[in-house]
Amino acid sequence: MPTRITETPTRLSTPEALRRWSLRCHAAGMSVGLVPTMGALHAGHRSLIERARADCDRVVVSIFVNPAQFGPSEDFDRYPRTLEADLAVLVASGVHAVYLPSVAAMYPPEARTRVHVDGPIAEVLEAVSRPGHLDGVALVVTKLFTATRPDRAYFGRKDAQQCAVVQRLAADLDTGVTVVVCPTVRDPDGLALSSRNAYLSPQERARALAIPAGLAEAASLFDAGERAGTRLLDAVKRHLESVDARIDYVALVDPDTFVEVDFPSPGCEILVAARIGNTRLIDAMQLGFDEAPVVGGASGNECSGSF
Ligand code: AMP
Repeated sequence: MPTRITETPTRLSTPEALRRWSLRCHAAGMSVGLVPTMGALHAGHRSLIERARADCDRVVVSIFVNPAQFGPSEDFDRYPRTLEADLAVLVASGVHAVYLPSVAAMYPPEARTRVHVDGPIAEVLEAVSRPGHLDGVALVVTKLFTATRPDRAYFGRKDAQQCAVVQRLAADLDTGVTVVVCPTVRDPDGLALSSRNAYLSPQERARALAIPAGLAEAASLFDAGERAGTRLLDAVKRHLESVDARIDYVALVDPDTFVEVDFPSPGCEILVAARIGNTRLIDAMQLGFDEAPVVGGASGNECSGSF
């Protein structure tokens, strides 16, 4: 069992400081876990931190709202920033360091390097709906991996395409980092936790439950033996259409390549991106592996119910 500490985590604000901190940990024979986040921490983030605390001797959480992964008309400026509350979460979680770089520290004006993962993984679905988003993710994760050189890094399955991009680049760039993909944490009524849920009005939040409801129906059809992809996709779309959600995509893909599949087998991902009002939400479920969302339980902001 890792030792529980209640001290304030070491604050690091430059790549050099992060690198030195991590080198000291490794020199002392300790393993290092990295949990990259954009802050506004919720129980989904906490589940990654808990897993990292259980696996690693030292854990660093990064909080950086990464401008490179937002399009010009997206929500970078209004993305929730709740640093004081986040620090309280990190103290309570017993993490050892928090990395809080400025935009200038991460992207000095002379920086010119881009990172692009080739092929469908970073060229379909999210890449089409949010041009440049996955390249921005690939860049920031590469920089975090390079500075930290963690033994393990923790990501949430809700962002399934992001996980696939990170796994690909971690292998292709010989980082030696083990990418650990953690289950999606949901509110008791099934909605996947997301910092962007804060944008939803109570009415919109109720409509957003169509997303886990659609996934739950697709999962039960799959479990009952349905293998026609269009039937699973139609089930999800019907739920979304019933609440006037604007669908970006509903898709069934191979989890490693992100090539679309017509007849899914266990392990295939079913992915949803939809707008409820002005808020864009994504969710995902791995057929035959993830437990389907339990929809219609007690609603509210209580954060529990990990799958
Ligand atoms: P973000 O701060 O939204 O960039 O998320 C940071 C990390 O937390 C990413 O790896 C996300 O996939 C993960 N994450 C976000 N929401 C959840 C959730 N509901 N359950 C598990 N992991 C999550």
